[in-house]
Amino acid sequence: MKLSHIEHIGIAVKSLETAIPFYEEMLGLKCYSVEEVADQKVKTAFFKIGQTKIELLESTDPEGAIGKFIENKGEGIHHIAFSTEDGVQKSLDELAEKGIRLIDKAPRNGAEGLRIGFLHPKSTLGVLTELCENPNENK
Ligand code: ZN
Repeated sequence: MKLSHIEHIGIAVKSLETAIPFYEEMLGLKCYSVEEVADQKVKTAFFKIGQTKIELLESTDPEGAIGKFIENKGEGIHHIAFSTEDGVQKSLDELAEKGIRLIDKAPRNGAEGLRIGFLHPKSTLGVLTELCENPNENK
């Protein structure tokens, strides 16, 4: 498996309305996209810094993963996402073969048209890890 860069860092927030101005006014980044991902019960806001994005995640359902995360741990870093050059499926298969526990056995659709798959934090030293590929990039 070949990872090319950190695609994004996912940060759980209670309110995009509060969080977006912090990133824009305090850190000077520009929010270029707000998108609801119904599948994951979140509303996301994206900022770009170099090749990497910051993905803010606001829960749209207390029973969703972000809703539960915030209830248990409060706001904070939720996951790190690596871009894989080999494609998500191949990378997931490779890791499963090496004994890594997967949340997703097959890629699914994430925000921004990416194909994504999550690894289980119990297998990744406590860091929820996401692999992504952009199907629109040359493969
Ligand atoms: Zn993500």
